[in-house]
Formats: sequence, structure tokens, C-alpha cells
Amino acid sequence: MRFHVLTLFPEFFSSPLRQSIIGRAIEKGILTVSLHNIRDYAEDKHRTVDDTPYGGGAGMVLKVEPVVNCLEAVRKKTTADKTLTILTTPQGVRLEQKLVEKLAEYQELIILCGRYEGIDERIRAFVDMELSIGDYILTGGEIASLVIIDSVGRLVPGVVGERDSLKSESFADGLLEYPQYTRPVEFRGMRVPDVLLSGHHERIREWRRRESLKRTLERRPDLLEKAELTEEDRRFIKELTEKD
Ligand code: SAM
Repeated sequence: MRFHVLTLFPEFFSSPLRQSIIGRAIEKGILTVSLHNIRDYAEDKHRTVDDTPYGGGAGMVLKVEPVVNCLEAVRKKTTADKTLTILTTPQGVRLEQKLVEKLAEYQELIILCGRYEGIDERIRAFVDMELSIGDYILTGGEIASLVIIDSVGRLVPGVVGERDSLKSESFADGLLEYPQYTRPVEFRGMRVPDVLLSGHHERIREWRRRESLKRTLERRPDLLEKAELTEEDRRFIKELTEKD
């Protein structure tokens, strides 16, 4: 899968994209991240990319021409049938695991990083989707792009070694993940639950499912409304809520 990132700060990406799972996937060629400097597409000799807002007000606005020139140049280079252009913005749809899964079906994603006080409104006409990583304001879209690359990239086959681990993760089936432990069995009086040491696969599966339901009910009850639940799950949740 290929990501194109349109940014004013290509160097921002050099360290994060070299690390760990994503770094290795890039090295192996399973993922490709192409960085495009928006400033290279400015139209004047000073390579201006921002200007003051019409109507007055604080801050600068990212200009439309360099961004659209850059976008069009990148689109000419894309070969994939399935390409999507994303604008990072706090005003976009919120990135959630279900959307991450949909984005992983594309062969190429073009991600535009905003900066300054905002972008010229006319840029919006040139993108397919506006995406926010949460209800807070970042200084620029670079961190949001990295969040997209990391969350989407790890779903691409071959990126995460054991694909089974993806199935049990938080949000994968609409629930939070169960608690995990590793050695030692006891640390400062805190013991690993006996069931996990029992080697009894069915009991372990049942314990994990129940812990997952319990944790979701405690921390994110909103998720239960959309989660895929069995009759047994519903009975267990009812028991838990009646206990309180
Ligand atoms: N004034 C803008 C507004 O209120 O919508 C915010 C501009 S923000 C300082 C600069 C850039 O950071 C945005 O254009 C966007 O690319 C990026 N950004 C900021 N917060 C974001 C978020 N929560 N999700 C995605 N991108 C974000």
C-alpha cells in the first residue's frame, strides 16, 4: 500500500517512519510513504505558501494554488484504481477503527496536512474525505497523518507478524480488549489470574470474553450499543448491571 503525504514539513516524518513495525514494513516494501513538499509547488519566486485571511483576523491561511498544484502532480503519479484523497482537519469525520478498516482497502491514500490558522476553503473541493483524529487542535496535520499511516498500515497483510493478534484487539469486534499478563506470575502481591495459568483453552476464552465485556461496560458503555453480542454476552452484561 502506498501513502502520499503532502506537507510543508517532510522532515517531520523521518524518524517515526523508520521505527519498529511500520519502519520494517517500509524497509520490506510492503508499505511505501512518499512525501511531497507543498512549498515546491508555490507559484512565486519566494515560494510563498501562506497569506493573510480575507476579512481580517488572526493567523495565516494555507494558499490554494500550491496545494492544488501539488495534489494534481501527485495524482498524475498514482497508478492504483483505488485511491482516496484525505484532508486532515479537526472539522472532519472522526477516525475510528471501522473507518481505519475501510481505509485499509485502498491501494493508495493521499493525505494532505494543513498548517497555520487553517486552509483556504476552496482546497476542500479537491479532496474526497475530511478526517479528524479527535476533538482537539494540533498545530498541523503531520501528526494526524502519522496516526492514519500507523493505524491503517498495520492492517495491511504482512505488516503485523501474527495477524491473529489483530482480531482480539480493542475495537476489532466493537469491544475493548481483555487484560493481558506476562511473566512473572506474581509482582508485589499482584497475581496473574489462575485461569490464565490453567492451560484450559475454553475457560481462558470464556474468561477473556467476560473481562472484555466487563471492561467495555465500565469504561466505554457506549461501545456496547454497536458491538456484536451473543445471547450469552447479553445475559452476562445484565448480571453485571444488576449487581451494581
Ligand atoms: N483553525 C482551524 C480550525 O479551527 O478548524 C484549525 C487549524 S490547525 C491549527 C492546523 C492544521 O492542523 C489543520 O489544518 C489540520 O490539518 C491539522 N489538525 C489540527 N487538529 C487536527 C485534528 N484534530 N485532526 C486532524 N487534523 C488536525
